[in-house]
Amino acid sequence: MTFPQYRQLSGWNALLPPRADIRVLRKEIDVDVAIVGAGYTGIAAAKRWHEIAPADEIAIIDSSVLGEGSPGRNSGFLLEIALANDAQPKQIQRMQQCNQLIAGAMNKIRLAVEESDIDCQLEHTGTYRAAAGSVGAKALEQYRAFLQAADLPFENLDRNSLQQRLGTSHYQDGLYSPHCYLAQPAALIKALSQQLADEIQLYENTPATQIQKVNDHWLIETPEGEIKAKKIILANNAFSKMLGVGKSRMVAIYTYAGLTPPLDNEALDLFGSDKSWGLLPTHRLGSTLRKTADGRLMIRSQYDYEKEIQTELVSKELKKKLLTRYPKAGELEFEHVWGGAVGFTLNGGAIWGEIKPGLFASSGCNGGGVVKGTLFGELLADLANGKSVPDVSSLFGKASWMPGEPFREIGFRVISALEKYRGRAEL
Ligand SMILES: Cc1cc2nc3c(=O)[nH]c(=O)nc-3n(C[C@H](O)[C@H](O)[C@H](O)COP(=O)(O)OP(=O)(O)OC[C@H]3O[C@@H](n4cnc5c(N)ncnc54)[C@H](O)[C@@H]3O)c2cc1C
Repeated sequence: MTFPQYRQLSGWNALLPPRADIRVLRKEIDVDVAIVGAGYTGIAAAKRWHEIAPADEIAIIDSSVLGEGSPGRNSGFLLEIALANDAQPKQIQRMQQCNQLIAGAMNKIRLAVEESDIDCQLEHTGTYRAAAGSVGAKALEQYRAFLQAADLPFENLDRNSLQQRLGTSHYQDGLYSPHCYLAQPAALIKALSQQLADEIQLYENTPATQIQKVNDHWLIETPEGEIKAKKIILANNAFSKMLGVGKSRMVAIYTYAGLTPPLDNEALDLFGSDKSWGLLPTHRLGSTLRKTADGRLMIRSQYDYEKEIQTELVSKELKKKLLTRYPKAGELEFEHVWGGAVGFTLNGGAIWGEIKPGLFASSGCNGGGVVKGTLFGELLADLANGKSVPDVSSLFGKASWMPGEPFREIGFRVISALEKYRGRAEL
């Protein structure tokens, strides 16, 4: 299958009113550029392309509807600075350049949200990072070193302060960094798409099933139509490899989220004094938590290789992890549980650039691509239009080669088993 087919609907999207204006591609079209994937990357690429070349015909297709793909399935953290595993003080100059680019992209998202009439629950809450055990504490130390070297503000928090603000004594050490927004991601992707210029054609429920070069143009096959394009952009993250890009450098990893119904004041008291907050793990396989602006609790955790596991198993595991952090939350049930695919690469670098003449791609988000995807999409449109762009590969890394199957899956299972054991306190 060249596109994701999830077991459950996105919980975030289920909270939004249904849309009636869904257009499916049911004909042959001829455009200047066709973009596969209406996520943060694809939407940003289309907007930027239109700015640069307003007369060009632009089409975007998505296999799903807005809000139902990964863009509307994520945890809604919009980081303004680089992720913890990038925190090397000696690379501080490079990271500062990345941070500047990321902050610019975040600013554009913020302005777009302000102009939209969709309530994205976008809040500049900052974010917590906390460690339950020694492996997490060590990673946190490394992140602190990066923040200090980069002269970025943060606040250290001990177990008691974390307990007071987040309502859990699970973590022994933590920090608060102001450089993060939280949002309702399904609302966010809809708000961003709403502002596409009228001339840009958006087709939903329209998967690309095949791409091929025919003479001087590219052809994209869809179940009920066909697109002939001078250039194409693959912005479909983990699934670009199903269309032939990134096969030897990326895997699709499924991760899961559970969201409770809105809680009453008594239940909300269990989750600390901050009205809404977000907590990121200090370990790659750890759990993310949120208390949302509308009084819900969200947990995101677990990873599966190339396929989504049964929802009942996921629910049980997410509940267990929630109870480890909040032993008094036994009565809580999830209103929604869902999974989402992320493009993972071995070294955390991206697949980005002109892959073949006229074929551009940006994939391998490695679990953090709302703001970065927005940046990469814009830069890809610049690149495809001959504009000068920063050296994305040197700044953000380039996905390295992975061995083929079955070694790749065995490698993933061995490494994740070791990491799970090493970071077991953080899961
Ligand atoms: C549970 C979960 C939690 C996450 N939490 C965060 C977070 O808090 N913050 C953060 O920054 N990132 C987070 N991520 C990652 C984030 O969702 C991605 O990095 C981000 O969505 C990447 O944007 P993108 O546009 O590059 O790709 P995607 O968002 O993956 O969008 C790709 C689009 O392409 C479509 N598509 C796929 N195949 C085809 C095809 N063949 N034809 C047509 N369309 C196709 C998909 O339907 C999708 O809409 C999380 C991901 C998951 C699953």
